Amino acid sequence: MNDFWNDDDQELANIDVLENCVDCENISAAQRLECDSIIRSKGTPQICFRPEYLTVSDLVKQQWCEQQLVYSLDPGIYLMRAPPGMIVDIEETPEQKLVKKKGSDIHFERELEIQVPVQVNIETKEDDWGVKFLNLQFAVQSFYNGNRLAREIPVFGVPFDKDVFVYGIIDELQYNLNEYRVIITELKTRRNSFPPKQGQIRKDKYQVSLYAQLFNDFVEGRFSKELMAAKLQLKVNAQFSKSVMKHITQSRINSANKIHTLGALIDAVLTQVQAMPRIHFAKVEYIHQETKQFISVVDFCLDFQSLAEQYSRHIEWWLAKRGTTGVEVEDCWKCSYCLFSEFCEWRKVMAERTTKEAYRTKCVTDASLK
Ligand code: SF4
Repeated sequence: MNDFWNDDDQELANIDVLENCVDCENISAAQRLECDSIIRSKGTPQICFRPEYLTVSDLVKQQWCEQQLVYSLDPGIYLMRAPPGMIVDIEETPEQKLVKKKGSDIHFERELEIQVPVQVNIETKEDDWGVKFLNLQFAVQSFYNGNRLAREIPVFGVPFDKDVFVYGIIDELQYNLNEYRVIITELKTRRNSFPPKQGQIRKDKYQVSLYAQLFNDFVEGRFSKELMAAKLQLKVNAQFSKSVMKHITQSRINSANKIHTLGALIDAVLTQVQAMPRIHFAKVEYIHQETKQFISVVDFCLDFQSLAEQYSRHIEWWLAKRGTTGVEVEDCWKCSYCLFSEFCEWRKVMAERTTKEAYRTKCVTDASLK
């Protein structure tokens, strides 16, 4: 997907208050942010904002800036920081909305190159998840039919046994039957025609790595139907509605088994997916939004150890095991693209800390001169 706030190459923008702040990661004040008190008075971030499941987009936003994620999930927490009576505009500009729309349109065009979406009437939650499994099955079946490419593939599960359900949609999988290899690809559209900076690439690599982890969990039998049913309150033995049954009947998956329930569909789809290779390689491709010209590509070997560490830290926040943090000092250029920079609590804390650090340093220096 496109990212309107950071695709201009101005990472050297001057950021006033965050300049020279030290080690944001370890700042003890992070445990004392007002936003944390507000959230915890209602529960954990997960209970407040995502009681059923997180999306990969949530986690990617969190990777960009956790404080920004809080404000986008609950703008009221940000708006209460403004002086009484002040009108604060946190709406995306028409230009930003247009950039997002163009990015979505390009993704849809790419999907239409290889498949045409069909409308399915959903009557129940079980129908909804059944359709997601059918879309996954459609992609895998197309590989078994000799295709090398599948797009818009849903993946979900409980990564790294962290007890939090996550859902996302892979942009593209490429299957090489001869090498028995799958490569995952994420497409990013950019307003300008320059390659992205490292902060953007880190975020995109995290995104595609999460998708790969979810897919590999299917392949390697780590997906749990029981946990999914418990997390999402699904009745896996309930019958699908007629509309969904029509699509199941048309799919090859129903040739051997009579499938009428989500539980039976999950078992049948997982059997097919588990014959696929796990994903080891990924790439993120950047194209220019206006011209659709290729800009650059980042190929990489997936590092699931690093992913597990980063993901675990993110989940700690969702489960209220730690407080909210904002951007670290090397990434404070992000604030110049942020809708919430004016009254951002993290920036204020950092500014105060920077002032105190400077004061403390001066005191130590003065004392040593006496
Ligand atoms: Fe995050 Fe900076 Fe925005 Fe605050 S101003 S929410 S720290 S990006």
